[in-house]
Amino acid sequence: MKLIRYGPFEQEKPGLCLDDGSWVDTSEVTEDYDEKFFAQGGLERLRNWLKEKGADAPALDPSVRLGAPVARPSKIICVGLNYAAHAAESGVEPPKEAVIFFKSTTAISGPFDDIRLPRGSEKTDWEVELAVVLGHRASYIEPREAEAHIAGYLLHNDVSERAFQLERGGQWVKGKSCDTFAPLGPWLVTPDEIPDVHALPLWLKVNGELRQNSSTADMIFQVPYLISYISQFMTLLPGDIITTGTPHGVGLGFTPPIYLKAGDVVELGIERLGTSVQRVVAAASRR
Ligand code: ZN
Repeated sequence: MKLIRYGPFEQEKPGLCLDDGSWVDTSEVTEDYDEKFFAQGGLERLRNWLKEKGADAPALDPSVRLGAPVARPSKIICVGLNYAAHAAESGVEPPKEAVIFFKSTTAISGPFDDIRLPRGSEKTDWEVELAVVLGHRASYIEPREAEAHIAGYLLHNDVSERAFQLERGGQWVKGKSCDTFAPLGPWLVTPDEIPDVHALPLWLKVNGELRQNSSTADMIFQVPYLISYISQFMTLLPGDIITTGTPHGVGLGFTPPIYLKAGDVVELGIERLGTSVQRVVAAASRR
């Protein structure tokens, strides 16, 4: 299944993208795709409903706005430097232990929403990433148990302000958490539609020019390991998002670096997880 959420920002309703590409509303099954939905067997209910009533489901206007495919979760955990070539372009050795850090959940936006430059930004950068959504609570789990804890996968642009991240002291979270810095979707794709999550091409273009072009096969730490690893440090809740790191080709890695400016268009995709497009707009002025 491909789960979507649609409607105005922070008023999204749940839906599905059907095999023919059309969208239907699923409000009959649940109010939203949130922690409670995943924790209480929502995906199974949705699957049964689709089988029985999918043909009569209310169709959606294809011009409706798509939001992030999951409701705001308890946390977004990011994995850093998880592709060797990206570690190299960042000027560091590939990590021996997975690097993890947080991204604020208020950064979440829809797959076709604008990226709004934060005030004072000069180094806003792009990062195409595979993100994983938890379907069950996970604490101290083994890698072999991880797959049973996954609700699905989605496309993520881990937008990053490099000066905030690297030059302002403290933790990377400063450069990762601005509003609109986490465009998610278009879909949350359930694992049954992904034969091998570690064999998916992923790419990103800026103004039509290919900047990132890699495969999830190149990850240093794979998804089951990451879920197990993170669960040694914190409890993962249903709906939580783990974003698994970006391949090489970010703006920081160019000589001289290339950063986003108002008017730029970022387009990204992962095979089987769809594509998204964001236009970059200037910072909101002070009032
Ligand atoms: Zn990232």
